[in-house]
Amino acid sequence: MRVLLVEDDEMIGQSLHKALEANGWSVDWVKEGMLAQSAMDEGGYACVLLDLGLPRRDGIEVLRTARAKGDRTPVLVLTARDGLDDRITGLDVGADDYLVKPYEFRELLARMRAGIRRRDGAAHSVIGSDTVQLDLTTREVLVQGE
Ligand code: CA
Repeated sequence: MRVLLVEDDEMIGQSLHKALEANGWSVDWVKEGMLAQSAMDEGGYACVLLDLGLPRRDGIEVLRTARAKGDRTPVLVLTARDGLDDRITGLDVGADDYLVKPYEFRELLARMRAGIRRRDGAAHSVIGSDTVQLDLTTREVLVQGE
């Protein structure tokens, strides 16, 4: 599955990129808001990890614009801003969830899975149809139970 990583901090971005790939994610990493917007416009992401403080366009604006266009991709906001106002604004403009840096990477993965499940209306970590299923936890694909 593809994830869009929006992070302008080189060190944080690199370590996240690496860790996500090690966990089976295909990662597109952009470092500023305008590129984030066009990547979201193109779509095809299971999930977006969005920093708020970004060059050229603020993460809040990116998210507000995407939601106004009807984009329902699960968005998890990752930010060093721990102010209550930022959290509330992020959620109000359409973030699915929020993690304040520093956070545990395992928790990030779990929240990504939860966001994807909620979008798909599933209560557990196996999504798909009767014939093809994807287990988000083990990353196994089952075709007719095999
Ligand atoms: Ca930033």
